[in-house]
Amino acid sequence: MSVRAAQLGALCEQAQVDAFVVTDRHDLRWLTGFTGSSGLAICGPSVMTFVTDFRYAEQAEDQVDGCFDRVICSLSLEDGLTETLPEGDLLFGFDGRTVTVTALERLTAALTDRAELKETGSQVAQLREVKDPQEIEAIAAAASLADEALTATIESGLIGRTERAVAWQLEREMRNRGAEALSFEPIVASGAHAALPHAMPRDTEILPNQLVVIDWGAQLDGYCSDCTRTLATGDVDVESTAVYELVLKAQSVAREKVKPGITGSELDQSARGLIEDAGYGERFGHGLGHGVGLEVHEGPRISRTGSSSIVEGNVITIEPGIYIPGRCGVRIEDLVVVTEDGALSLTALPRDMSIVG
Ligand code: ZN
Ligand code: ZN
Repeated sequence: MSVRAAQLGALCEQAQVDAFVVTDRHDLRWLTGFTGSSGLAICGPSVMTFVTDFRYAEQAEDQVDGCFDRVICSLSLEDGLTETLPEGDLLFGFDGRTVTVTALERLTAALTDRAELKETGSQVAQLREVKDPQEIEAIAAAASLADEALTATIESGLIGRTERAVAWQLEREMRNRGAEALSFEPIVASGAHAALPHAMPRDTEILPNQLVVIDWGAQLDGYCSDCTRTLATGDVDVESTAVYELVLKAQSVAREKVKPGITGSELDQSARGLIEDAGYGERFGHGLGHGVGLEVHEGPRISRTGSSSIVEGNVITIEPGIYIPGRCGVRIEDLVVVTEDGALSLTALPRDMSIVG
């Protein structure tokens, strides 16, 4: 049995189920190795089954860990289960966050006389929060590809180019360097537009003496990166400079605080406290960070509601931001691995304010 299937199987007793039904495609990839879009796995000490349809027969043969019995269904994934599982009275756990109401109805019908279903929370997603060395390597490779892509993009300068043109070049630079996808559509937001944390790049020219927030990430081998830098296109006003210095300070304090055992909310507060004390608490409206892996936003949660402790092997972002409507926005985001000794940054770009003409 693979290490991951064993880890999941070991949670059955605690959840008081015989196995877990896994349907989310990121969970499936992590658990079985399958990268297709149509699959379902049952994983527990007494049953290890992977079902897909004929389109993925060969791919499943190549990718799915040998500890799973591979079933190719003829009609639907659920009917594959009906054909495969013997009658019995098993209890299967499922993740209510990823199984839709329709999927649940179909599963329930398919499992009649075989198993009952019980909502047990996001067991696989929680296991995924702790990365193994190969996963960390993949995320680090995605992060350094993204770093190089930004460096190449800003070589041609920012002033006079539209936000959209810069975003498009950044996208091309990532693809040219081998990114299989983007973690998300890049954000390039200048001047007052940067006050929107999730700003869409506009067909508007970037002007001199502005701050420009750029948030981007590449996907490589299934794993995402996520980084933000705020660049200046010349001398910016006193308030923008002060806000930049404050965000930089908060980001550095939070990175220093990263260590196994600290909770997401304590980490969030280490940066938020500083920003609140400076009178900008209301302007930092989002959480300090989030986990990153097969998904760009996953656990653990690094925010005011992050009650669980971070552990070695988590890969998280540290991204405080201050947004002043009508004036400017600043966010500085790094992707870090939680190690025994603290945060190891996967982003190598400078954090001090860089001036790009
Ligand atoms: Zn980001
Ligand atoms: Zn982020």
